[in-house]
Amino acid sequence: MSHNCLFCKIVAGDIPSKKIYEDELVYAFHDINPQRPVHILVIPKHHLTSLQHASAADEPALGRMLAVAHKLAVEAGSPGGFRVIINNGEIGCQEVPHLHAHVVGGDQPVGPMLKRQA
Ligand code: AMP
Ligand code: ZN
Repeated sequence: MSHNCLFCKIVAGDIPSKKIYEDELVYAFHDINPQRPVHILVIPKHHLTSLQHASAADEPALGRMLAVAHKLAVEAGSPGGFRVIINNGEIGCQEVPHLHAHVVGGDQPVGPMLKRQA
């Protein structure tokens, strides 16, 4: 566990979350500020700052994050599809420095891939 990492503390149970799934590699919970009716965060249980820091040792957790996304999306109420977003680093506009995949969906299309710039 990385000290003072918000999502490591969530995995450890030191900070509450609305958990929806956990296995030996990944942990999934509802985003605290959902942008769509379904907005799940799937994270590796071990601390990994971003894909900028990933190595071959992280591949099992990275694969599992994507492998569970469909099941979690369906169970959360998005059976017709979903979008996975992973923000990385400053240019990727990542706010929480523990890797997380946003799984977003609902009963309506989630919209354009990126917010249109002026
Ligand atoms: P990002 O900008 O990709 O780093 O996304 C960070 C996400 O974490 C945002 O969607 C936040 O709403 C979410 N978030 C921050 N704190 C919490 C928390 N304590 N529990 C659940 N989601 C959180
Ligand atoms: Zn962490």
